[in-house]
Amino acid sequence: MVTGRETGGVRDAAVDLLLGGSCLGCSVPGRLVCPACRAALPSDATPRWPSPPPPGLVTPFAVTAYEGLARSLVLSHKEHRMLALTPVLGRLLARSVAAAFAGLVSPGGPVGPVLLVPVPSRPSTVRARGHDPTLAMTRSAARVLGAGVSVAPLLRSRPGVVDQAGLDVVQRRANLAGSMAVRPRELRRWARRGTAAHVVVCDDVLTTGSTAREAQRALAAVGVEALAVAVVAATARRSPAGESHLGVHGVSSGAEVPSPPATH
Ligand SMILES: [Zn+2]
Repeated sequence: MVTGRETGGVRDAAVDLLLGGSCLGCSVPGRLVCPACRAALPSDATPRWPSPPPPGLVTPFAVTAYEGLARSLVLSHKEHRMLALTPVLGRLLARSVAAAFAGLVSPGGPVGPVLLVPVPSRPSTVRARGHDPTLAMTRSAARVLGAGVSVAPLLRSRPGVVDQAGLDVVQRRANLAGSMAVRPRELRRWARRGTAAHVVVCDDVLTTGSTAREAQRALAAVGVEALAVAVVAATARRSPAGESHLGVHGVSSGAEVPSPPATH
């Protein structure tokens, strides 16, 4: 490919290579996720707590650890705008939402309305990426889950929040404290419906839990209590007892999973 702009040409070539069709999991030519890798994706979500969990965080559900194919899917969708992955990620996120409502969801669908509230991306990030990956996969998850499940982008990100990458757990909490607010117009729109809904905060990746906790706080500030957090993948190992093999407790940010996602 010759574009006359070397950096753009290299980038385009890289995108071509990716879009030219090979599986993100095993590199076999063809689809972005081959049938075998798709079948190997986890089918159930479980609680996956960060360590230490932010005080007051509702239970976070994830289908898998943030590694391997799951990590490739999230990054390719988010950073390389591979929108064909939106439904793949949406199905995974839907499993986390369903797990959060295991006691409420019947085979025919959830009992009572469920409201999925995506964690907001910074407007500058959405502009730079050309899309809002978390909102897109949350909408896709709602379509998978069917009737009774809606998406409400109730939250917005306030200015002044820096990228979370490279910050340790304490810095992340400080960076995010008060960083989100409810959009009054959206809230009024949903309040007018008059039915109480079960609210789940949705995101692509859970790292320290600070972002989800801030979303939960911003909702609670206007009287909306989130019941759970649903994500595709979590960086910490599964730790029902709150203990973690790969937690962030007592380690520097550099010891966390490499290249944490640019957060919202
Ligand atoms: Zn594959």
